[in-house]
Amino acid sequence: MLQGAALAVLPYSLLPGPRAGEPPRAPDHPPGVWEPADPSNYTAAEGPAPRSVDLVVIHVTQTTYRNTLSVFRDPGKKVSAHYVVRSADGLVAQCVRERDIAWHAGDWDHNTRSIGIEHEGWVDDPDWFTDALYEQSARLTAAVCARHGLPKDRAHIIAHHEIPGTDHTDPGPHWDWARYLALVNSA
Ligand SMILES: [Zn+2]
Repeated sequence: MLQGAALAVLPYSLLPGPRAGEPPRAPDHPPGVWEPADPSNYTAAEGPAPRSVDLVVIHVTQTTYRNTLSVFRDPGKKVSAHYVVRSADGLVAQCVRERDIAWHAGDWDHNTRSIGIEHEGWVDDPDWFTDALYEQSARLTAAVCARHGLPKDRAHIIAHHEIPGTDHTDPGPHWDWARYLALVNSA
């Protein structure tokens, strides 16, 4: 579930300005499609140095794939994630570049050090967690771990609900962590 950054603690200079006329980008994860979030909904990287990432945060959207993308495109929502995985076929949409800071974890510290992956579905309905969704998400997470040098384990691939202070429950009790970690490690 989406949880924006606490803007009150954001230094104003980190807020992105409009970037009109930017050309479309290829996704960092080549099987994916580029579905950009509005620049008002994340913090653009400054300078060429990559940020240090040590967490992948697993979310469930509590709404549809299509609606999630429209929320990220809405400049008033102040929320985003790097990726959204579609239930029916595992299609991966990238909405924020990995070098930029998506607003998904609920606090600035966790946003700055993580990649956020949303999964289409509802926490109380495991039918949304299809084989295709698990498989394509696992490939994505394995690739993210490889790009950022992260061990593919539960210390580095965490649930949104494991972030201290959050009131969010996703991905919920039906998310099959044993299956997911096995897929990530065999991808
Ligand atoms: Zn969440």
